[in-house]
Amino acid sequence: MSTCEQCWSDSQGPYGDPVRRYRELVETRKCTPEEQAGPGAGECPRCKRKTLHQYTAEPMCGCPSAFQAPSAEAIEAVRASLEPGDVNG
Ligand SMILES: [Zn+2]
Ligand SMILES: [Zn+2]
Repeated sequence: MSTCEQCWSDSQGPYGDPVRRYRELVETRKCTPEEQAGPGAGECPRCKRKTLHQYTAEPMCGCPSAFQAPSAEAIEAVRASLEPGDVNG
């Protein structure tokens, strides 16, 4: 589970342990998916809300992730296309 960006930014400060304070905030607040995803969030392709976490791209809205891990074949195809090959000059 990705961090709640709203609680994380509010937990930073000169007082106490930020990790402990973050846990307290997360448990007591009920942040919206938009707040959890942070100000740099991406748009969820399913519900069209700004709920894709700004660092992990996890859909905080709870929609199934639009991102699927690429297959080994797909990675190999991209890698092959990036190699210079036998271009002369
Ligand atoms: Zn929060
Ligand atoms: Zn969504």
